[in-house]
Amino acid sequence: MKDDIFYYKDGELYCEQVPIRKIASKTGTPVYCYSYSHLVSRFRAYEEAFGQTPHLVCFAVKANSNLAVLNTLGELGAGADIVSGGELFRALKAGIPAGRIVYSGVGKTRSEMAYALKEDILMFNVESMEELEVIDAVASREKKKARIAIRVNPDVDPKTHPYISTGLKKNKFGLSIEQALDAYRKASRRSWLEVTGIAFHIGSQILETDPFVHAFEKIKILLEKLQSEGINPSYVDLGGGLGISYHGESPPEPEDYVSSILKRASGLSQTIIMEPGRAICGNSGVLVTRLLYTKKNSLKTFYVVDAAMNDLGRPSLYDAYHEIRPVHERPGADNITVDVVGPICETGDFLARDRDLPILSPGELLTVMSAGAYGFTMSSNYNSRPRAAEVMVRGSRFEIIRQRETYEDLIRGETIPQWED
Ligand SMILES: *Cc1c(COP(=O)(O)O)cnc(C)c1O
Repeated sequence: MKDDIFYYKDGELYCEQVPIRKIASKTGTPVYCYSYSHLVSRFRAYEEAFGQTPHLVCFAVKANSNLAVLNTLGELGAGADIVSGGELFRALKAGIPAGRIVYSGVGKTRSEMAYALKEDILMFNVESMEELEVIDAVASREKKKARIAIRVNPDVDPKTHPYISTGLKKNKFGLSIEQALDAYRKASRRSWLEVTGIAFHIGSQILETDPFVHAFEKIKILLEKLQSEGINPSYVDLGGGLGISYHGESPPEPEDYVSSILKRASGLSQTIIMEPGRAICGNSGVLVTRLLYTKKNSLKTFYVVDAAMNDLGRPSLYDAYHEIRPVHERPGADNITVDVVGPICETGDFLARDRDLPILSPGELLTVMSAGAYGFTMSSNYNSRPRAAEVMVRGSRFEIIRQRETYEDLIRGETIPQWED
């Protein structure tokens, strides 16, 4: 589907109806570009798959937290899955109502909890017994009932990269089914806690529906057990994790995934929540970079570009594959096998290794595809590099949705102590 959004016309790469070249010449490089239409169509795919079945799609803010992206999805009815007070702040600023926000994460602090309680979010997905105690204490201090779900670790193998699997016993996330039962019993006796949901999230970039279905079946058994004890959550939250195509993978479409769950949800009175991140925004975005230098040694050829691991960390972190396309087609140009590397002083600073690309000259633009999720949000200022600009394209228009950082931004908040000996 990304090929309808990012395509070549008259020899150059477009995003919707805007030549990438035009964006780069306005903003400079590196720059992230997001397609409005792609975001909308991915979100609608979930909505349409659910049809009249009660549901809530909470976009995982950590995948892409730009206000314009959150606002686009929020306007369509999306909620938000947040993992920090900062993400709550962003989601609210973007206009997502608190009543559509769920809060996940193993390390919520008391002040983050108090903030979320005051804002009256839909629910906290609680990840440990100790957290349950702390939420209870904070709720009682704030005199505000906390709606909670227990995040259950269903111990299923999502068959994805070990760094992004989260639903195995050895992972730090959630409580085992037995522990969860205890947690629910405890929570149901606390006057400042209201059992609202049951949640799981098994990992990311999952390429089949089976692991989700398997986890869902396990959760349904726990749900029955809870109901037999008079504990009645009103939401079942299946988390996120549906994969996208980076390099020829064929993940289930949202409609296949949702329907495989709905098929097994008949008779369920709960509202289903899903928390997709990557599946919504991953292929909506690209990172545009400029070739600075080409260099060659006896073993390898390098394309040194102006984007680096601080801009897009996934290749270095997970050895992730991102397709790279030249912005200007080079018909008839010979290909060469190159490492595409950034300016950062680390051997791990690469965007692609041993990649066949046309022979290009310095100054040419390259586009790193499938960079809309876990791209900008994972970026840093390492090597004192200002973070990239972000742009949203809609039809034949585009807007800068985040200015490139300046050198002044780099030192904001820093002071040199005036020691008096
Ligand atoms: C990261 C995360 C998501 C989103 O994962 P994707 O793979 O981007 O869909 C959803 N829920 C929770 C709890 C998460 O930690």
